Amino acid sequence: MTAVLNPATEETIAEVEAHSAEQTDETVARAKAAFPAWRAVAPADRARLLRRLATLVEEHHEELSRIESRNAGKPIAGARGEIGMVAQVFHFYAGAVDKHYGETIPVAGGVDMTFREPLGVVGLIVPWNFPLNISSWKLGPALACGNTVVLKPAELTPLSALRLAELALEVGIPEGVLNVVTGKGSVVGQRLIEHPDVAKIGFTGSTEVGQQVMRGAAGTIKRVTLELGGKSANVVFADADLEKAAASAPYAVFDNAGQDCCARSRILVEKSVYDRFAELLVTATRGVRVGDPELDDTEMGPLISAAHRETVASFVEGEPFFRGDVPGGKGYWYPATLVEARPDDRIAREEVFGPVAALIPFTDEAEAVRIANDSVYGLSGSIWTRDGARALRVARALETGVLSINSNSSVRVSTPFGGFKQSGFGRELGMEAMAGYSEVKNVFYSTE
Ligand code: NAD
Repeated sequence: MTAVLNPATEETIAEVEAHSAEQTDETVARAKAAFPAWRAVAPADRARLLRRLATLVEEHHEELSRIESRNAGKPIAGARGEIGMVAQVFHFYAGAVDKHYGETIPVAGGVDMTFREPLGVVGLIVPWNFPLNISSWKLGPALACGNTVVLKPAELTPLSALRLAELALEVGIPEGVLNVVTGKGSVVGQRLIEHPDVAKIGFTGSTEVGQQVMRGAAGTIKRVTLELGGKSANVVFADADLEKAAASAPYAVFDNAGQDCCARSRILVEKSVYDRFAELLVTATRGVRVGDPELDDTEMGPLISAAHRETVASFVEGEPFFRGDVPGGKGYWYPATLVEARPDDRIAREEVFGPVAALIPFTDEAEAVRIANDSVYGLSGSIWTRDGARALRVARALETGVLSINSNSSVRVSTPFGGFKQSGFGRELGMEAMAGYSEVKNVFYSTE
């Protein structure tokens, strides 16, 4: 058994089984056995089951939000938003079930048609930062396409996934269709990656483990979707609404205590407004409410673990430009931190995954694009300007998968999400995700 902690209090809140490779095999066998019947469920009935799951998540919204908040140390308001999105995701993919179909293609001598076939058993491996939210991005399209799934939550945050699996049974999703296996990545995760009966791995996590997923999947030519790390740029031009950009920028880094793959942790500011913007940013950062995640108005909680806090701290050398306050006593707290950096500094190149932002000045548009693209990552980012032509020019030039203009938002249920470069490949959310959980079959029917 593994103890599951509340990062805000360091208390043990549950004990969860650490499954073995053999137990993982047994679960894969159950998912394989459930596949023929699940894929044969009429689309409207599969949609109805997903819709019921969405509704049950809504009915358990507060309970699931509390589980997520206590297990991940995230402010309850943020957890409520995430669980709200989980329900929306299941509603969306309930609607997608019968809108994802093939084509007929004109060819000589007959009729050619394509089908969207499910893959079979898919393994879903997820991180601890948005535990149920990210799980739903994979479960929704995987189940909608007719696959059965084995979900492996992160060791630190298994509780919401376990509760969801119970809710799935309650709504009548057949046993063996949605399975959750808790345990170590190196045991359960590794087994899923190598298992011959697992057709695909949908992975979200670090770039290092993503590399292991790709390597491991090669043995059985598994399909993989990888949502990995990021070092996104928040590019602020002199003609932007500076007040709005500065008010928003802290939440683009310090939400979820910076443990967000979309964190705009490089804030690039045009030199002519750098001092003014920095002043506004410090004022806005001071306003971030840090403290007890259970309170409705808390905006930033602790980090996930003591080990992760050490990693985050190792990035900050010398005296930062700004350092916020944190509560004393128990909990893995780390203050909101702003540092001034050069593009080559470690803090400007590596993913910190904590509440630390690097402020970097630039001279003109070309330099802004060069600095923003000078990263192995390419997940998200923002552009702040009142010049519409420039906004689109820069948006086209940035090597990143998800961008917002005059906004720091990253994720919407109906729009594709995913990275360029070492931030991964494949897309989640929207109809785009359905392609990642199905195979195209082409059938020619001779009319001669
Ligand atoms: P991680 O890579 O350590 O773990 C992710 C998952 O992989 C966990 O479930 C873990 O148990 C499992 N795992 C670990 N080793 C494994 C192995 N050898 N084989 C199979 N599975 C294994 O990541 P984390 O620390 O949980 O999460 C933080 C990382 O996730 C950050 O790098 C962040 O950027 C990334 N992330 C990316 C996105 C995105 O959508 N791009 C979203 C959230 C988080």
